[in-house]
Amino acid sequence: MTVGVGKEMWELVAELYPLCRSITGDGVRETLAIVGRQIALDVHEVPTGTQVFDWTVPREWNLHDAWVDDPTGRRVIDLRDSNLHVVSYSTPVDQTMPLAELRQHLFTLPEHPDWVPYRTSYYSESWGLCASQRLVDSLPDGPYRVRIDATLAEGSLTYGEHFLGGETQEEVLISCHVCHPSLANDNLSGIAVATQLARRLARRLAETRPRYSYRFLFIPGTIGSITWLALNEHHLDRIRHGLVLACVGDPGPLTYKRSRRGDAGIDRAITHVLARSARQHTVTDFSPYGYDERQYCSPGFNLPVGSLSRTPYAQYPQYHTSADDLDLVRPEAMADTLEVCWETLRVLEADRRYRNLSPKGEPQLGRRGLYGTIGGRSDAEQRQMAMLWVLNLSDTDHSLLDIADRSGLPFPLIAETAATLQDAGLLAAAS
Ligand code: ZN
Repeated sequence: MTVGVGKEMWELVAELYPLCRSITGDGVRETLAIVGRQIALDVHEVPTGTQVFDWTVPREWNLHDAWVDDPTGRRVIDLRDSNLHVVSYSTPVDQTMPLAELRQHLFTLPEHPDWVPYRTSYYSESWGLCASQRLVDSLPDGPYRVRIDATLAEGSLTYGEHFLGGETQEEVLISCHVCHPSLANDNLSGIAVATQLARRLARRLAETRPRYSYRFLFIPGTIGSITWLALNEHHLDRIRHGLVLACVGDPGPLTYKRSRRGDAGIDRAITHVLARSARQHTVTDFSPYGYDERQYCSPGFNLPVGSLSRTPYAQYPQYHTSADDLDLVRPEAMADTLEVCWETLRVLEADRRYRNLSPKGEPQLGRRGLYGTIGGRSDAEQRQMAMLWVLNLSDTDHSLLDIADRSGLPFPLIAETAATLQDAGLLAAAS
């Protein structure tokens, strides 16, 4: 992995960072337009009021300006400094009020007095402002002039979809959320890694067509995935594997959360890749909390979708604060996440079952020149073991990933060995 790709992803994060995103509105559209310069995106607009299972697509929220002036006219809070200052989905305000009243609408983080929290109020009408504890402690008595120039109106929910057709209609789903404002790890790192993964797949497509089709979703969290599921309910049986990417740019070790099924192909592929690599990592069981895997893995769908993060949501102090910024996400961390995603896709692409065409006793490898090709290589012993394992377990019941796990040998070696044995006429693909 080159440093270049990490830097490219970091630059995309930096470009998207200032945009004021929410679950609807122009911030999402601008975000998709920027991503759309790197990969082809179908942008969907789903009208306010559309019923999606138990939910309704909300009114569209757009924030134009917001500020608070103290009694001397000094601007103490200004949207232009940070778009975290306004609680997402705040109703419009144009009022003068005493400090005591303003305080009822102020959110701070007393334990991190210099940080600004990130707050939302999507589904209850209210308004609020977020600021550092240090600022709020320094505010003199009022009155304060408070202005939130926002619109909450009929409109639509916007999401982006990138599709790359493979040999089959069976799909791999990659999903990330695009609804957080200036938060780098939680939201933008996932967008950057997903975008780069799609670009890599497209480059590979120029050489050989992948076996699976790939669908990338850039969607607002929760309501976006629920909307997508509702609109695509009749095609969900095509999804063979899926991955939610979120918080994938901080320097912490990787964390994979299994799908609800627990033993789906994606669960097995990614845990194999992580276990065989030298990376420190954690694998956890599914839980119905976190990002959009909650929706994909709801019992009515139970899709084979896992979730990849570095430090998981809510487990790093900067989570949902102004400190989840461009310093927290690292080019090398995103490049490392991308590499694990890529290796995992390669396992999924190559994993299949074979039938040993000479299953009665071991076939004579020397006569076929297979020992010869082994002999000159430094990893000869490992390659010979791979050959014996592949021949022994290729009974159509075991996939190459089963063989890799059971033998303790790396998947790429097992896959390469299967190809060699197939060329030698000893194996036939069974699935
Ligand atoms: Zn979040």
